[in-house]
Parts: sequence; C-alpha cells; structure tokens
Amino acid sequence: MEFIFSHPSEAEDIGSPAIKRVGLFGSTGSIGKQTLEVIRANPTLFSATLLTAHSNHELLIEQALEFMPAVVVITQTSKYALVKEALASKGILVMAGEAALEEAAGMDCFDLMMAAIVGFAGLKPTLKAIETGKNIALANKETLVVAGDVVMSMAAANGVSIIPVDSEHSAIFQCLVGEGANPIEKIILTASGGPFIGRKPNYLVNVKREHAIAHPNWSMGAKISIDSSTLMNKGLEMIEAKWLFNLEPSQIEVVIHPQSIIHSMVQFKDNSIKAQMGLPDMKLPIQYAMAYPQRIQNSFPRFNFAKSATLSFDPPDFKTFRNLGLAISALNKGGNMPCILNAANELAVYGFLNNRLGFLDMTEVIEQTMANVAFIGQPSLEEYFESDGEARNFAASLINL
Ligand code: NDP
Ligand code: MG
Repeated sequence: MEFIFSHPSEAEDIGSPAIKRVGLFGSTGSIGKQTLEVIRANPTLFSATLLTAHSNHELLIEQALEFMPAVVVITQTSKYALVKEALASKGILVMAGEAALEEAAGMDCFDLMMAAIVGFAGLKPTLKAIETGKNIALANKETLVVAGDVVMSMAAANGVSIIPVDSEHSAIFQCLVGEGANPIEKIILTASGGPFIGRKPNYLVNVKREHAIAHPNWSMGAKISIDSSTLMNKGLEMIEAKWLFNLEPSQIEVVIHPQSIIHSMVQFKDNSIKAQMGLPDMKLPIQYAMAYPQRIQNSFPRFNFAKSATLSFDPPDFKTFRNLGLAISALNKGGNMPCILNAANELAVYGFLNNRLGFLDMTEVIEQTMANVAFIGQPSLEEYFESDGEARNFAASLINL
C-alpha cells in the first residue's frame, strides 16, 4: 500500500504578521530555553508572547523580565504569589494551575505554539491551541503517542499545521519538501543508540540515574534522556511518525547511527533515499519549525566532512533494549495501547529517576501494565484520559509509589 503525506503548502507562511508571536509552553525546559535562544537571535522574526513553567519560578521570572510576554503561567500553584509579586507592575498577566495552562492555550496573544512541555501534561493545552486555530511546532511527542488520531484529525478540521520539532521528524519533514504527492515507501529513523550502546543486560542491571542521563550527542531534559538510554525514545518516535506522516507501522524502520549526523531518511517508491544531515543541535529543528517554509541564516557550527569521515549504521539490539520491542507492539496493536505504554513509561522513568526502580525493571513495569489495562480498539478522547489514569495507577502500584 502507498501512503501520501500531504505537506503543508510551501507557499504558506505559518502566522502572517511580520513578527510571529510564539506561545512557548515549557519555556524553562531544554527545548524551551533553546527556543528562547532562537527568538533572542531573531528579534525581527519572532517574539515570545506567552511563557509557561511548571516548577522553576526563578527562571520563568528571569525569562519574563527579558522577553516581556503578555501572559505567563506557572502550573505549580504554590509558586503563584512569588511570580505575581516579581512581575507586578510589568503589565504581564500571571496565571497559575493546570487549568490555566489550557485557558492560556486558547488565548489570542500568540500565533504559533511551541509545544515543549514534557509528557502527557502537554496534551490538553495542545488540543486547546489546535481548537483555537494556532499552528503547532511540536516537540512534545507524547501528545501524538497518546492520542495521535484525535490530534491529527482535530488539526485537519481546524486547518492547523503540525510542524515537527523532534530532530528525526524534522528531518523527514524537510526531506518531503517539494515532493508533492510522491508516495513514501518507507522512512528510516536514525537512533544514536544512547549512552549504553553495545552494552548487555548484565551491565545494564546496575546502571544508575547519572549514567543513564549522560547522553553522548544531545543535552536534553531528564525524561527524554532516560528514554534515549532505553531506546523507548525511538519507539515513541515510531508512533509519532505514524501519525505525522500517515504511515503504516511496516513503513517505519529504525537504524542505529551513533554519530547523529543523519537525522533521518525517506525512501521513495523509485528507491531513491533522501537524508537530512547536520551536527546534532536542537536549535536547527526548532528554528526550522518556527520559520517554515523559510530557512534562517545562523552561526551554528558547520559539519566538516573531512574531519568526520565515518558514518556508521547498525540494526538495533532488540534483545537488550526490550522497550523498543514493547513500543513496536503498541504501534502494531493501535487503539489505546500506545497511551498505556506511554503512561507506564512515564511512571517507570519517574521511578528510575528517583531510585525506586532499577534500569531493567522499567521494562517489567511497562510490559505488565500493557498486559493488564483494558484494551480499547477505537478510543474516544475521554477514553484516552481514562486509560492514561488506569495505566498510571497500575504502574504506580507495581513501583510502590
Ligand atoms: P525538560 O524536562 O527539559 O522540560 C520540560 C518543560 O515542561 C519544563 O518547562 C517544565 O517546567 C515543564 N513541565 C514539566 N512538567 C509539567 C507539568 N506537569 N505541567 C506543565 N509543565 C510541565 O524537557 P525537554 O525540553 O527535554 O523536552 C520537552 C519535550 O520535547 C518532551 O516531550 C521531549 O520528548 C521533546 N523533545 C525534546 C528534545 C530535547 O532535545 N530536549 C528533543 C526532541 C523532543 P519546569 O522546568 O518549570 O518544572
Ligand atoms: Mg528525536
């Protein structure tokens, strides 16, 4: 079967005003901070008109004083008074709490949402932004893993573009520019292999948070760093790709490429393969998603072929990194299974980060949760929320949280 990904019109610019107003959800995170670097470097193209944080009120205040957004949201309500006091007399609306995040996503003070919250918490605000007609630069892959069908159909119904920020998906998106209706035969997602590439279970059984969090090529938030070390990240990315590019599971392949220079590839039906390459730096896919279809001049370090001549490729070690196989089975099963997988994984990663769970135990928690939470073939949005809650409760009981 052939699938055609309909690329947003290349003539179309996302957000028509000269300065694109960015609503940055998750401004205190790794993607959030790098987004602000891009905005800082391009003040005639972008402004940050809405910022949100969860716990890091100090950084949120500092960012707000520099970028002077119209609105800031702090979801931890205990921090509200501190943020409010610091920004008093600045003309910035300060909101607090989970519901405020959703309310802010519906406001008209921004044109483009940078969805950079980590985990399931990003889903509701993203849906609200789509519902109110904002284009989305999507870093928060969990949104598509949990409810990809709802998100993509809501985006289509509202004429909203979802532009990927995840480097692999940005690569595929860039490979598809100019391809019109040419069908994709398959995509090849590259994976660095993480810090434990080549290791076996007898080594992994003893690894701790500080080993797992140290990624060789990318500096990222804690959760995605752990996901990269277990290869769950690549599994989540396969599910993300299915929804973004309208693919069958059989059209999505993973290859280990430790240098992280080729960010991913598309193979077309004439057997031509296109790759997008560059040094690993998230600011590039961030700025591409924000400026699409334009490319912006920048001073990021350039790749030098003469200095880095070796690019290598290997199949993933499914036996050692079992999370990847679990994600593929959730991808094949469909329905609410990716949502269950995601919830169990969020809890397992939390357990590991807090020294409540060993590295390999994360896989057990996910596997058992997938086997025990009720399967629903075609869930409604409500049912996704219920499945998420059920899976969290089940996984928490296994970890004794
Ligand atoms: P971080 O952990 O660095 O940042 C997460 C952000 O979300 C912070 O601003 C944090 O606020 C906020 N946040 C955390 N929990 C909640 C919550 N319950 N409600 C509202 N806000 C919350 O993550 P990353 O920036 O690394 O990742 C963000 C997303 O982007 C993830 O989905 C990840 O998979 C994806 N991504 C990241 C890449 C990277 O290089 N980092 C690459 C590709 C994708 P605070 O810090 O104030 O608590
Ligand atoms: Mg990625």
